[in-house]
Amino acid sequence: MLSAQEENFELNICHLYGNLLNTYGDNGNILMLKYFGQKLGVKVNIKIISIDNDFNEKKYDLIFFGGGQDYEQFVVSLDIQKKQKAIKCYVENNGVFLAICGGYQLLGHYYIEACGRKVTGIGVLDHYTLNQNNSRFIGDIEIVNQETGEHYYGFENHQGRTFLGKGEQALGQVIKGYGNNGEDQTEGAVYKNVYGSYFHGPFLARNVHFAYQLLIKALYNKYKTIRIPLWEEICEEEIYDE
Ligand code: GLN
Repeated sequence: MLSAQEENFELNICHLYGNLLNTYGDNGNILMLKYFGQKLGVKVNIKIISIDNDFNEKKYDLIFFGGGQDYEQFVVSLDIQKKQKAIKCYVENNGVFLAICGGYQLLGHYYIEACGRKVTGIGVLDHYTLNQNNSRFIGDIEIVNQETGEHYYGFENHQGRTFLGKGEQALGQVIKGYGNNGEDQTEGAVYKNVYGSYFHGPFLARNVHFAYQLLIKALYNKYKTIRIPLWEEICEEEIYDE
């Protein structure tokens, strides 16, 4: 079996509305995907798809969608309706997708802004997001993934309170911080290969193994049978150097 390096494999990453939704270092997630892609011997191509750009789901192997302020989020919410069908198709076909905060909220049914205005999402995931009275969830957060036992670390800053729907699992249980809504101890959502989370930080820089897992899933989706280097093979002293 050939390795990714020997075959010159490529991954095409779509940075959805990357010029509008990119708060608290969300762009760092893209840098991490590029960095680990190189370590895996994979060429990573990144394209921002934004307002009025066509989105063809067949062209992409991984999507990243960041967060932002209510104003930008509202602007995006109007445009993304035109891409709803293609994004749904991508998700249902097991496309790999990471959405943070505002992006995560817009994948659900709706988001209520701080001022009370209802912003329509695209409903490809089954959650909805309510607002809160003159308050925000701000601070460091830690969760544990119930299936793998992995801990994830990040920084949250959101006013939205998200409630998960049918078919979605939480990304993890809150150990420290607020998570989806400050009530039920859930954080983020998982549906097929879609991961939603409130973690800024940026998420992948603080949870490097997750970056690797996303790339591996995208590579298997695209190339089915390739020999992919193990985590231990690519992750040398730079990350574990003390
Ligand atoms: N505007 C949304 C909220 O306040 C998302 C914030 C963000 O992406 N950081 O909940």
